[in-house]
Amino acid sequence: MIDVPKQLFIGGTWVDAADGATMPVDNPATGEVVCHVADAGTKDAQLAVDAAVRVQEEWAATAPRARSEILRRAYDIIVSRTDELALLMTTEMGKPLAEARGEVAYAAEFFRWFSEEAVRIEGGFGTLPDGRNRMLLMRRPVGPCLLITPWNFPLAMGTRKIGPAIAAGCTMVLKPAPQTPLSSLVLAEILREAGLPDGVLNVVTTSRPGEVVEPLLRGGRIRKLSFTGSTQVGKLLLEQSAEQVVRTSMELGGNAPFIVFDDADLEKAVDGAMVAKMRNMGEACTAANRFFVHRDVAEEFAVRLAARMSALNVGPGTEPGVDVGPLIDQNGRRKVERLVEDAVQRGARVLAGGRTPTGPGSFYPPTVLSRVSPDSDLMGTEIFGPVAAILTFDDEDEVLRRANDTEWGLVGYVFTESLDRALRVSERLEAGMVGLNTGLVSNPAAPFGGVKQSGLGREGGRVGIDEFLDYKYVAVPVT
Ligand code: NAP
Repeated sequence: MIDVPKQLFIGGTWVDAADGATMPVDNPATGEVVCHVADAGTKDAQLAVDAAVRVQEEWAATAPRARSEILRRAYDIIVSRTDELALLMTTEMGKPLAEARGEVAYAAEFFRWFSEEAVRIEGGFGTLPDGRNRMLLMRRPVGPCLLITPWNFPLAMGTRKIGPAIAAGCTMVLKPAPQTPLSSLVLAEILREAGLPDGVLNVVTTSRPGEVVEPLLRGGRIRKLSFTGSTQVGKLLLEQSAEQVVRTSMELGGNAPFIVFDDADLEKAVDGAMVAKMRNMGEACTAANRFFVHRDVAEEFAVRLAARMSALNVGPGTEPGVDVGPLIDQNGRRKVERLVEDAVQRGARVLAGGRTPTGPGSFYPPTVLSRVSPDSDLMGTEIFGPVAAILTFDDEDEVLRRANDTEWGLVGYVFTESLDRALRVSERLEAGMVGLNTGLVSNPAAPFGGVKQSGLGREGGRVGIDEFLDYKYVAVPVT
């Protein structure tokens, strides 16, 4: 594995936690400890905010082109180091190397995209309707930001927030997930190499997120929280942000419906299902969680999907030919086991997988369940594992009602060869994103995010930078 910084990155300097605490990083394929990194406490986090606040004004005043070029250089460095970054990610998170390489490219692309956006921040100018006043609109960075990321996309969840924050002229404190801190620590080093001034990005790794984060949100110096993680933790952070009216962006959980109509191209639908279900071993907020398949094609779809899922190779992500790595940890695996057991007890048929292997690592096999009862726990829970749960439906209104019957609304997938139906169902699905005859929606150039309890705001696309900018309106009398 590459040599990775293991300390906190504060004000451009690598430092130990004030109390010397460290925490282990495990390899989920073996259960073994890979290394230890600094485990920050409250005092360290305050120092990180001090550093971010100190340079905010100066950073906001840098030329957009300078910020753009830092991002562009970081993009080039990441791409040139793809293989070693992929190996690092596989080691701490478990995904197969090919997928990790894909994530490196996806992560780097956020920097390229926002390097292009940094020089296109536009204000406005106009005469107000009364003719007596002019309106000048300025865009200003929101100020020091707190960025909190999950473990499932260790590099991309960071670049998706850091890219627009840099482009907008914000300083930051990043708190990555404790399971996967190494990708974020290397990213800090890459950004420094790319010319990011000291203090603009600070990275605080900690195993005590509640203790460390709450005082930052209540302290009045952080002006923006960008969070990706579970809805449960998102709600807690929204409450904590309320006290100082901290601006928030929330990328939260999902419970994606995957709808296959009887006029769908079944081969396309199975291909889409493999991506929507198996990307990241099912550990994605966008993962298809509930497969609704029209009764007339359900049996055939289930059999074809089971054949494809059974053919996947499960093993350590570093081994050649492996398609499916381990789940993030034993807790993640126990959750998946429990959901499958519950579904089977309620009458589901196991067409593939369903049995936990023995041996080291938190592996779980690709699993297909058909005839799943609608009252199964997995219908209302993010499975976050390689389990496809299939239910049947009879008509369009019914499936839309059932698909929308959830507090989440991140993404939905629709497979049909009818254009009318495709558009109608896309409009009526309560989701921030729809995959139409495709199992993959994520793209740095598209606005990513959800409705209902899946979140607030959007990341990526032309609007991604808006989350880090305020409008300032200046009234100018016509004299
Ligand atoms: P999580 O448990 O909510 O944790 C996310 C982050 O929040 C981690 O860094 C975590 O640190 C931290 N955290 C936990 N409790 C906290 C607290 N009290 N105060 C401050 N920070 C706290 O989620 P996860 O298990 O890492 O990630 C999976 C979830 O993320 C799923 O629900 C998935 O759908 C969602 N997700 C959403 C998107 C999206 O774009 N919508 C993308 C990826 C993932 P600790 O690990 O130390 O608790």
